[in-house]
Amino acid sequence: MRAMYYEAFGAAPEIRTLPEPTPTANGVVVKVEATGLCRSDWHGWMGHDPDIRLPHVPGHELAGTVLAAGKAVTRFKAGDRVTVPFVSGCGHCHECRSGNQQVCEEQFQPGFTHWGSFAEYVALDHADQNLVHLPESVSFATAASLGCRFATSFRAVCDQAKVKGGEWVAVHGCGGVGLSAIMIAAALGANPIAIDISEEKLAFARKMGAVAAINARAVADVAEAVREITGGGAHASIDALGSPATCFNSIKNLRRRGRHVQVGLMLGEQATPQIPMAQVIGHELEIYGSHGMQAWRYDAMLSMMAAGRLQPDRVIGREIGLEEAVPALMAMDTATDLGISVITRF
Ligand SMILES: [Zn+2]
Ligand SMILES: [Zn+2]
Repeated sequence: MRAMYYEAFGAAPEIRTLPEPTPTANGVVVKVEATGLCRSDWHGWMGHDPDIRLPHVPGHELAGTVLAAGKAVTRFKAGDRVTVPFVSGCGHCHECRSGNQQVCEEQFQPGFTHWGSFAEYVALDHADQNLVHLPESVSFATAASLGCRFATSFRAVCDQAKVKGGEWVAVHGCGGVGLSAIMIAAALGANPIAIDISEEKLAFARKMGAVAAINARAVADVAEAVREITGGGAHASIDALGSPATCFNSIKNLRRRGRHVQVGLMLGEQATPQIPMAQVIGHELEIYGSHGMQAWRYDAMLSMMAAGRLQPDRVIGREIGLEEAVPALMAMDTATDLGISVITRF
């Protein structure tokens, strides 16, 4: 099979022909039809993720067709259209048994703990516990965007921040996660505020449902600008980028008893950011992480899509080929692309 492959962190990946995978007893092999390009792939390629063992094939936001299933798999068979959350649970640890597969103690992450989906085929373990049947109405490219950024944003907004209609929601960073969070918050009847340093991304965010936009380069104090628009601060705030500055502002711009959700990764030298802890205590702020979403929660997201209230296809930027994905991955940290890039040609 053709795949993107690297033997050293930070060195240019190459497109190689590799042996095709075979399914484990509890796993499947999926023919990849679409796979999204994400900043987490860039972090992995840079060597920031301790789960990755070299040599490696990246890619974790995927959708495709089951090619072969292991003999213990009962819910999926060859030909089924599927997607999978990027954090897959083992099915038997305490967290999995309590329905929190997104923080499984022995998680399976294609593209991190195992070879991923920047390839014609990918092997996925624990298929019955983690795969999601895709309705015909959802295209593979759209489904690929669900597995990481859209689903993660869905959990961050609905389950972690518990956003309600009428609340102000600040969203720091208008890449794939941020645009998704804005669309989801708007669908819940909340008032999302988009924050970014690119006017083009802010204009796109308004189309996704942002009721106000702040260019972080054009104001002296982002948190103050949010407080002015919201009359005292956001009820909920999401750091969708992952940087010390956006994390700090996202907590700082909250009103009393507000909720901050950290979605953007902070790894390497950014792993221990400054937090305005006096405000967290005095204002009883809540700080959450958000890490993927359980397969069983896809039902709620897919029904909002079927009803037309969520349109994740609108956050897809460009569809590219496997070769084009190499420079795109290497430039991911400084990407100026609007929306999510998805590999649809292998
Ligand atoms: Zn588990
Ligand atoms: Zn991702």
